[in-house]
Amino acid sequence: SNAARKPLIAGNWKMNGLGASAPEFVRIVGAYQGSLKNVVDIMVFPPATLLTSFATSTRGAGVIVGAQDCHPAPSGAHTGDISAEMIADAGGKAVIVGHSERRAEHGETDAIVRAKAEAALRAGLVAVICVGETEEDRDAGKAFEVVERQLEGSVPNAARAKTVVVAYEPVWAIGTGVTPTVEEVAEMHGRIRRALQARFGAEGEGMRILYGGSVKPDNAAELLRAGNVDGALVGGASLKADDFLAIAQAAR
Ligand code: PGA
Repeated sequence: SNAARKPLIAGNWKMNGLGASAPEFVRIVGAYQGSLKNVVDIMVFPPATLLTSFATSTRGAGVIVGAQDCHPAPSGAHTGDISAEMIADAGGKAVIVGHSERRAEHGETDAIVRAKAEAALRAGLVAVICVGETEEDRDAGKAFEVVERQLEGSVPNAARAKTVVVAYEPVWAIGTGVTPTVEEVAEMHGRIRRALQARFGAEGEGMRILYGGSVKPDNAAELLRAGNVDGALVGGASLKADDFLAIAQAAR
């Protein structure tokens, strides 16, 4: 990591969490107000059903709350979808776009992900843009090529250091307990950094690049020390406040 880029630990709750989960979030907010706040940014992405209540309970405490997806349009006839403007209206400050589960289960292409990221910027949200190769891509020696193509296609031209976060999440590492080696992570993050610098100059140098995929309290410190790793996007281990806070502590 780099002193100019404040570490960011983000929790993606996916399709988990009911009203009964609120105390878990409240514990994260409480712990964050101590010494962590000065050294780490924290984002939590609950299901949309909990966005308003979480945004209300974090008010003033500094934990950033966001949504897991948005529609590209500001409003309209799109049953079941939520716009970036609605997320902002609900108190959200960020949105994940292009998560591999959205790409795989909802057929989201790079062009769709880019349109969603543009919507996020339009609404004043931080866009956390996910990229990552499949196991098949990696076995075929195409991991760098696939990730660079996703970056090129998914990151909007208007991206800036303060408005866009890139999350590298190898699909084969998500929810599997398997991670790339620290060297593999550093190599991919270095490639992503160079691509961002080539396209955005100093803004690309300032953009945070998160690693995601089976980040746990016991592997977080070594993954977070890898070159160009500015934080983590955490799925399963973000559901328990203790585990999530231990990962945040590892980013100090
Ligand atoms: P995981 O998920 O931490 O459960 O592997 C990460 C993600 O999909 O963002």
